[in-house]
Amino acid sequence: MQDDDIKPVSASTYNLNEEQENKEIVRHYRALLRALRPKIKKGDKELLRTAFEMATNAHKTMRRKSGEPYIFHPIAVAMICVEEIGLGVRSTICGLLHDTVEDTDITLDDIKGEFGNEIAKIVDGLTKISTVMDTNSSQQAENFKKILLTLTDDPRVILIKLADRLHNMRTLDSMKQEKQLKIASETIWVYAPLAHRMGLYNIKTELEDLSMKYLEADTYKEIAKKLSETKRERTKYINEFIRPLKDKLTQAGFNFEIYGRPKSIHSIWNKIKKKGVSFEEVYDLFAIRVILDAPIDKEKEDCWKVYSLVTDEYLPSPERLRDWLSNPKSNGYEALHTTVMGPQGKWVEVQIRTKRMNEIAEKGLAAHFKYKEGSHSEDRFDKWFMQIREALGNQDEGGIDFLQDFKTSFLAEEIYVYTPKGEVKMLPTNSSALDFAFYIHTAIGSKCIGAKVNHKLVPISHKLRSGDQIEIITSNKQKPSEDWLNSVVTAKAKNSIKDALREEKKVIAEEGKYTLQRKLEGIGGVYNPYNVDQVMNYYKLGSQLDLLYRIATKSIDLKELKMFTVLGDKVEAPKPVVAPVEHNLEHAITRPIPKKDSELIIFGESSDQIQYSLAKCCNPIPGDDVFGFVSTGKGLIIHRTTCPNATQLLANYGHRVVKTKWAKNKEISFLTGLSIIGLDDVGVVNKITNIISGELKINIAALTIESKDGLFQGTIKVYVHDKDELANLVDRIKSLHGIQQVNRFDTETV
Ligand code: MN
Repeated sequence: MQDDDIKPVSASTYNLNEEQENKEIVRHYRALLRALRPKIKKGDKELLRTAFEMATNAHKTMRRKSGEPYIFHPIAVAMICVEEIGLGVRSTICGLLHDTVEDTDITLDDIKGEFGNEIAKIVDGLTKISTVMDTNSSQQAENFKKILLTLTDDPRVILIKLADRLHNMRTLDSMKQEKQLKIASETIWVYAPLAHRMGLYNIKTELEDLSMKYLEADTYKEIAKKLSETKRERTKYINEFIRPLKDKLTQAGFNFEIYGRPKSIHSIWNKIKKKGVSFEEVYDLFAIRVILDAPIDKEKEDCWKVYSLVTDEYLPSPERLRDWLSNPKSNGYEALHTTVMGPQGKWVEVQIRTKRMNEIAEKGLAAHFKYKEGSHSEDRFDKWFMQIREALGNQDEGGIDFLQDFKTSFLAEEIYVYTPKGEVKMLPTNSSALDFAFYIHTAIGSKCIGAKVNHKLVPISHKLRSGDQIEIITSNKQKPSEDWLNSVVTAKAKNSIKDALREEKKVIAEEGKYTLQRKLEGIGGVYNPYNVDQVMNYYKLGSQLDLLYRIATKSIDLKELKMFTVLGDKVEAPKPVVAPVEHNLEHAITRPIPKKDSELIIFGESSDQIQYSLAKCCNPIPGDDVFGFVSTGKGLIIHRTTCPNATQLLANYGHRVVKTKWAKNKEISFLTGLSIIGLDDVGVVNKITNIISGELKINIAALTIESKDGLFQGTIKVYVHDKDELANLVDRIKSLHGIQQVNRFDTETV
């Protein structure tokens, strides 16, 4: 984000407040030292001072978009490293220096000379990361791989990068809107899951909320408003809930803290979306937390004692007990979660953990390392890093596939399953029996024909759930096929399957080689690399292997070889008669797309300026927050910022995103859909259609109503001019007697 976040300083504004600003800078630095004090050893202070001065000098002439001197940013990043992640002196130094190599005259050698190899390596890792997201997508994936390699070398790189990202997100307000969308998307796409995976729950939550603030501004504000409106009521309820528990725990002699904690806006929004309920219907807007002071050898016992006391008071839901004491998550998280029936018939989640577990939940990896000595659990992070290294080592595809695979296999939530002997294994959510087979061993995966899950026979694609016990069934006749790729999510399984397919392709391609040799000789030519290339290019194939494979499987018959000319050792392909032209389509772009930094495109009134189409996945209408996406061949496609595909597109193809905005428009109308749920009432259809076409004069494209057991569910497709008109329509329908819910649908699935 560096280049964009910097602007040169004009001498006059700078000098004006120079003295004051310098004081302010020193004040921030002192606060940093205070936070770090318990960790500072002899000699550290001088090193920190050198880093601070080096960074201050290097960034001297730069300012952030907000106008403040740039050095505030590295100091803030270092502060997050110390206070929120629990990192030490060396990471603080790296935090202070993290943008110097990228943006200033300071070189890695300078840093190595001053601070040694360890710090120079981390700063190098941070420098590589900062260039990741602004280039094209495949290069981006390539860079991301580099980061991951650095990460597995020294996890501090990614922790400091997360601190950097967090501070950038906290100060995103002063950036331009399309920049905000892009950065917020990247954050929700990669950084929040990465924070989660590193066990940094607070940072993950804040990153998600901040992203949502920019990506879904309206919804964010609405939920925040409702949360603050209902705060008093909630506090009252929490106090009522906690009171008897406090007494019980005190009587039992526990040293503890108990409090209610609101859930994040992002997680509430997820619930609303997932369950299709309204804000008022989300029951767990908060969770109760019990933090115990317990000696390490009595932790588990004490947590269960508390569980017992809590469930004496309130009845637990049998389905909602999560025991991460016996089976910690692989990001280190340990706790006991239960959901109980509280006063007024409300379900309440209670999280029980010790102080040590709480620190790990908040500071993740760093705290985990702190407690590592003396704990007998094997190191889950080391294991995770090893798996990443393995996956990086044996895959050669680039592009988005890799990022997608990485997300599903390394950043997803996990399930734990058992081998027939009762050994526990961790796999990402959505893993199949086949994933498990490959996880055990490549040879077992390749021969897998099915599995027994909890003693029941299931196909290889069967999705596993936590607690399943799996026995893999193999056959020597089995071998991997292309469609297996659709049944697996782990990188290990995917890579093994691809390797096997490639091997098989090579064997088949051998036959194609003989066919091609014969045919070449048939026209008087010879089989040599130059000639094979000529044929390959003629058929527009990417590799010789591909060519030979297609010849062997007869998807190419080599008839056209007769048209080749033969000159000595060389054959030449004929000139192609018609070249396919990609943009010769009805959606062709009539004018060059302006670069992302130039004028905004206004469409609607002046829609003749540029060809665009509306995305089918989210059906935007005027007034929606939208962005334009430059597609190959289809011109500009307009998506809503809330589109399910938006974060993916914005995060991975940021360079193809164009800022777009609606112009006022009354001539064109747009198709959109509403789903309505209500109590079946005689004449309800009539009332609805009366409002739509009678009162509001809106055109109806389709209307279906189904009624069952006194409830009805309807979908209506209407043509509206803009968001305001739609909102008005929704309000009018909602005001009808018996109507329970009116929702716009996001996709064309209905
Ligand atoms: Mn930075």
